[in-house]
Amino acid sequence: PASSPVKSVASQHQPKNRTIQVEIKHPWTKEVDYKLRKMFKLPNFRKLQKEAINETMAGKDVFVLMPTGGGKSLTYQLPAVCSSGKTRGVTFVVSPLISLINDQSRHLTNLGIPAIAYTGDLTQKDKNTAHEELMRQEPYTKVVYVTPEMLTMGGHIKHILRSLLQKRRLARFVIDEAHCVSQWGHDVSPDLRLGDLRKDYPGVPIMALTATAQNKVEEDIIRSLGIKGCAVLRQSFNRPNLHYEVRQKKKGLLEEIVGFIRTQPQRSSGIIYCNSRDNCENLAKDLRDNYGLEAHHYHAGMSKGDRRKIQEGWQDHQFEIIVATIAFGMGIDKPDVRYVIHHSLPRSLEGYYQETGRAGRDGQPSQCILCEFGVRCLDGKKVLNQIAMDTNLSRDQKDRQKAAMGEVLRYCDNKADCRRAQVLSFFNESFDPVNCHRGCDVCLGREENKFTTEDVTEDAIKVIKLVQAFDREDRITLVNAVECFRGLKGAPGKGLDQNPHFGVGKNWLKNEAERLLQTLVIEGALEEFCVASMAGWTNAYLKLGKMANKYLNGTKKLNMMFRQNSPRKQRVTKKAAAGTKRTGSGRVQPQIDSFTTKVNNPISRKRSHQ
Ligand code: ADP
Ligand code: MG
Ligand code: ZN
Repeated sequence: PASSPVKSVASQHQPKNRTIQVEIKHPWTKEVDYKLRKMFKLPNFRKLQKEAINETMAGKDVFVLMPTGGGKSLTYQLPAVCSSGKTRGVTFVVSPLISLINDQSRHLTNLGIPAIAYTGDLTQKDKNTAHEELMRQEPYTKVVYVTPEMLTMGGHIKHILRSLLQKRRLARFVIDEAHCVSQWGHDVSPDLRLGDLRKDYPGVPIMALTATAQNKVEEDIIRSLGIKGCAVLRQSFNRPNLHYEVRQKKKGLLEEIVGFIRTQPQRSSGIIYCNSRDNCENLAKDLRDNYGLEAHHYHAGMSKGDRRKIQEGWQDHQFEIIVATIAFGMGIDKPDVRYVIHHSLPRSLEGYYQETGRAGRDGQPSQCILCEFGVRCLDGKKVLNQIAMDTNLSRDQKDRQKAAMGEVLRYCDNKADCRRAQVLSFFNESFDPVNCHRGCDVCLGREENKFTTEDVTEDAIKVIKLVQAFDREDRITLVNAVECFRGLKGAPGKGLDQNPHFGVGKNWLKNEAERLLQTLVIEGALEEFCVASMAGWTNAYLKLGKMANKYLNGTKKLNMMFRQNSPRKQRVTKKAAAGTKRTGSGRVQPQIDSFTTKVNNPISRKRSHQ
């Protein structure tokens, strides 16, 4: 198969230039291929599955990054049942969600593979049986699922692991949903320290699996687990059949949505996401009563039975539209979802990717529409306020949620760069918009709207010098760098105004300045790196990237696209600054000189003061 590793070997019996392709054979290749078909009943591997399997069977540490649904489970389940690898015995899978653990162990049991779900739900009797089985000289069990709490709590499990290690029957550790061990991933709890696995069980290979592809998450996972130098297997996150679009929420939006749904072929399934239970119920009712659409709500406040009924009805095409909170979707494998509409803002870009990712699993064209209501001013502020007021969140959690929300707001605001490129750059994947093929509103609009490309090299160099001027003690985050560039003092004690390049980008709008710095990160002129703090958290700071010198010595230029009718810069020249006047809202309204085109969009004008 095309996806398996091939080596070109020049054969002696063939004319000189011809090569034949020979698959790399490992001692386990035969067993792996056989058991894929025989035990898992799958015809062949998907992209990168075989590579991941080969690494772990060779006893190496592996980091596997695949989108949700990509098939990560097989990369440890298949090695777990093979005996021809470098390590043998029981595979321990650390998984944070009990529901996933139960699903997976049931799945394995159905395939005839002995597995144990070692969770807090076990009765003492079950625990004893499991203990007995795993303490045997040659345990029969292939896979043990544990929650991180169980593993780090000690007691029985530690005892079992020690004994397996001594018998050389501890095949590998698998950390599923590994972003949970990273503070950049989800809601990590500080005591889920899995970093001791390497120390406590030397020589046992570790596999980390995740669908979270931010650079800082990846670094953080690898650092936390102590698996520097592991094989890293990354699959592209691009979903070519999804069309991305951001729509302004305004009066008549619902008509627009209904209009869109009506353009879909009959009986097309779709999901509409709302951020509250009430919103779900009201919207579903509205769609039913006033527009005659078959819509039903789904949220965590409903009984289990009701939820199942709704989910199954939707999956069986008894009705088309499900109006849900983000509680809906995890583990749902419906191939023919034709559209995902976000009626409320998602909480993070990563969440947005996962939620939209539920559309078009069958590979057919599908639509993803995000509705925003002048985000910077309304929806966004509301959510940011909610986060700030939430007494259940620690300061760190608040900061992280605010930062994640900031990324969503920037996505909505950025109407100049291809949506797909924006989403994928968040996943640290560089995507050439040429390959979007009008697959998003921006690329489509580019053909209709006038865009200008401007050379921003001069300002790029200023940013690079600014970052360079912070020595190692004064680490600077991207947000601080933007503040410093724009001449804002930021938090006290940061000393942003001490930087010799403080305020060199005074005339840049906030969101455009952010875009400039992000572009520099993507282009490799700047780099984000993680540092563990004393408290055990990790922070991302900026340093110069490999390409920085190319800009500094003038061998590389930076161009950015700007929509012609929205301002990039506000030149607050001395004269203009003197002429600032108070607007009705009490905000300072700087005059804009001829460098920028006239602002005629009230929303972007408001934005410019953030
Ligand atoms: P992930 O953990 O990456 O989200 P899973 O491991 O749960 O994904 O797999 C998602 C689906 O893909 C499952 O239904 C699984 O059976 C299927 N799958 C995995 N590998 C293959 C394969 N090689 N061929 C066909 N289907 C596969
Ligand atoms: Mg999985
Ligand atoms: Zn595009």
